Amino acid sequence: MEQSLNAVAAVQNFIHQPHHHYIQGQWVPSQSGLAMEDIDPSTRTVLTHVARGNGDDINRAVEAARQAFREKSWRQMTPQARGVLMWKLADLMAEHLEELAQIDSLDMGMPLRQAQYGTVPMAIDHMRYMAGWATKIEGETIPVSAGPFFNYTVRQPVGVVGAIIPWNFPLLMAVWKLGAALAAGCTVVLKPAEQSPLSVLRLASLVTEAGFPPGVINIVTGYGPEAGAALVAHPDVNKIAFTGSTEVGKSIMRTAADRMARVSLELGGKSPNIICADANLKRAISGSMLGIFMNQGEVCSAGSRIYVAREIYDEALEQMAAYAQNMRVGMALDPKTQMGPVVSAEQYERVLGYIAKGRQEGAKVVAGGGEMSRAGAGFFIEPTVFAQVTDSMTIAREEIFGPVAAVMPFDSIDEVIERANVSAYGLAAGVWTENVRTAHYLAHSLEAGTVWVNAYHVYDAAAPWGGFKQSGFGREMGHHALELYTETKDVWISLQ
Ligand code: ADP
Ligand code: MG
Repeated sequence: MEQSLNAVAAVQNFIHQPHHHYIQGQWVPSQSGLAMEDIDPSTRTVLTHVARGNGDDINRAVEAARQAFREKSWRQMTPQARGVLMWKLADLMAEHLEELAQIDSLDMGMPLRQAQYGTVPMAIDHMRYMAGWATKIEGETIPVSAGPFFNYTVRQPVGVVGAIIPWNFPLLMAVWKLGAALAAGCTVVLKPAEQSPLSVLRLASLVTEAGFPPGVINIVTGYGPEAGAALVAHPDVNKIAFTGSTEVGKSIMRTAADRMARVSLELGGKSPNIICADANLKRAISGSMLGIFMNQGEVCSAGSRIYVAREIYDEALEQMAAYAQNMRVGMALDPKTQMGPVVSAEQYERVLGYIAKGRQEGAKVVAGGGEMSRAGAGFFIEPTVFAQVTDSMTIAREEIFGPVAAVMPFDSIDEVIERANVSAYGLAAGVWTENVRTAHYLAHSLEAGTVWVNAYHVYDAAAPWGGFKQSGFGREMGHHALELYTETKDVWISLQ
């Protein structure tokens, strides 16, 4: 409680400061002198202004990161000392948890409760988990038959990492990239999303306080096509770690191809969530509603295609509609809020456009279906459930990234597998059944990087995360993430 009251003052103070780039451990204004507006989506008012970076700022930040990568203070820091620094940063994040939670909540509209008890604690856990890996990135000795040789591998940091993150989980996405990169010994230039850059800037002061050598972590704020594109195109960036839309992911991959920069991409989704006839319906309904409405549906892994066995379809639909109608939509900072506003005017129009399209193409709204001005002046959209959806409708195919569920009946397990796998995406899937064979059969058959059985939206720093197909490639979290930030070097020592 005390942390929370102090946090309100600290957050206000922080928000109204000038917000510059964080380069070489210093706050550096944009070379252009330009700034961009940062909006509070709960009120549609300007929260503050943030530096609008361009190629010049990116050049400075990449130079700082390259220099830090060469410096002995980082290069020769022991893995243990690196792990201790990361753990220190995690401790500072825990000390400022309330503040970080309020900042993300204000900046992009996630319910405060979710930030306090979900995403910010997850970011802290993640940093600690990765701190432990710093001392455990091992090579192998290989029994070669080519002659009398001692052959071994070492895993070395890939170099300067350009990290570009989306607005839906600002702090968490930053830490997913930073954690593995730092554990591996890389240096980083991070570009947060223009809609929600503040928690990452707050994190930067904690980076200084933790005692990281200057230049190991740099942050440039700005727009995607400006600062983001400059980072992707920079010849001295060895690896791009991107989370965002599939469209931008493809363009990043094209640009990176020219210099063979390493790329990992965590992109869009249209995840199927399958409720079988034998499911525990109560659990399945609340889990599936969390699956689509958590974070206003602004989650790449949102369970937006809900397939329900025909024999329980009507009953399930009725319960889903009731659930959606009872959700408390409101100001993100209100502790009672279950769903906040969507992030921006653009997103608001996009989601409402999809809802209109759903109606137009013949789907039927059974809950929500519109904007929600009574929740406040912000970008509020009702939790919306569509029935009478067919697989070919736009709302069943395209990622909406908003609180809109498409509910469809199915008749057999093999049929639903085929329909689920039709999607170009393959990020996550949910399965609800009490039958162990059905559970494993579906888990095995679905084309998705993660399958949840009798659960949805559970994540752990130790469990790998990433997509099949157009949801991208590379696995963040778990030891798998370290692959993305290291190169394997093989060494031959002649024994003769
Ligand atoms: P969304 O549509 O959800 O905002 P984007 O893929 O556009 O998703 O944005 C994700 C991140 O990618 C943001 O930080 C954004 O600024 C950045 N970005 C957008 N366009 C580009 C681009 N052309 N090059 C590099 N980064 C970009
Ligand atoms: Mg904002």
